Amino acid sequence: MMSVGSLTDYGINRDLLQTYLSSPIKRRAEFHGFEGIIFADSGGYKNLTQGALDGSDFELEMNQARVFEMQQQLGGEIIVNLDIPIEPDDSFEERCRKARLTAENVDEFLELSKDYPAARYLTVHGYNYSMIDTFMQELQSILGDIDISATFDGIALGSLVPKKDDRELLINAVQGCRDVMAERGFDDLPLHVLGISNTAIPLLAAVGADTFDSSSYMQAAINGKYYKSLLSTVRVEDADFKDCSCPVCSSPELRSRMNGNTQYRKDQMGPAAVHNLYVQMTELKNIRERIQMDGTDGLVDYIENTIGRNDSTRKHAHRVVNESLGGYF
Ligand SMILES: [Zn+2]
Repeated sequence: MMSVGSLTDYGINRDLLQTYLSSPIKRRAEFHGFEGIIFADSGGYKNLTQGALDGSDFELEMNQARVFEMQQQLGGEIIVNLDIPIEPDDSFEERCRKARLTAENVDEFLELSKDYPAARYLTVHGYNYSMIDTFMQELQSILGDIDISATFDGIALGSLVPKKDDRELLINAVQGCRDVMAERGFDDLPLHVLGISNTAIPLLAAVGADTFDSSSYMQAAINGKYYKSLLSTVRVEDADFKDCSCPVCSSPELRSRMNGNTQYRKDQMGPAAVHNLYVQMTELKNIRERIQMDGTDGLVDYIENTIGRNDSTRKHAHRVVNESLGGYF
């Protein structure tokens, strides 16, 4: 996952921005051998909150054409339109206005990208069925009755980052989005949830989310946290690296760095971030295998033994099992 909006996160200057955009990510030496897919997000949230991309010696006004140009320069293989995310305090009228502005961008995005060989995802915004249904109505008031399923390769559900700790709302949003997709005939498309990960992943996967992105593994490390599992962390200083068999914890040099034997904090926390990512990806692989099993028992079992054992998340685990996975025996 790469976002046009995060290019200037560290106050870079114009020259460095030009270097970043000078060749597609996969052609850069640092990514030699990387076989993943480049998902180039549009940076809608950054654009909404800051109005432009701010570097140390430049300011770049963003619009749909500029964003698409940068997605191409980065070598995006999945791209999304520039969207106007909703915010928790927005009125109904404001949300409708933003939906129409997003729709105008979608119209331009479809024209601009028609010959570019990437998968195209449509952004959708709302916290529940009703809000997402209204979003689609406003979208179609601008675009007409386009065939979403034939025009797009996936749906990207956004605006949830300010609500990332409200599990009830996240479940409502993903369930609501899947319901809207089914009613409007594009339920065959994959559903990506923008900017959400960590403990919500198994529950959101159970109610119909296919992919996620987040920098939580890195944010945790920046805050000195080392993942023991998807659900629990300890401070890096208190971690027992022998409990983990990942490539980072298996390396004497990297263990020594995580123990603080290094001059710069980034050299202590960088390895911890990679360990955290490894833990997340291993758990995701486990969840994916359980989803692919016949029936829902594998996933129910996983949820019951992880989220269901935690006091703060148990009720959400039970709700998802009962409403979406056929309930308990
Ligand atoms: Zn590890």
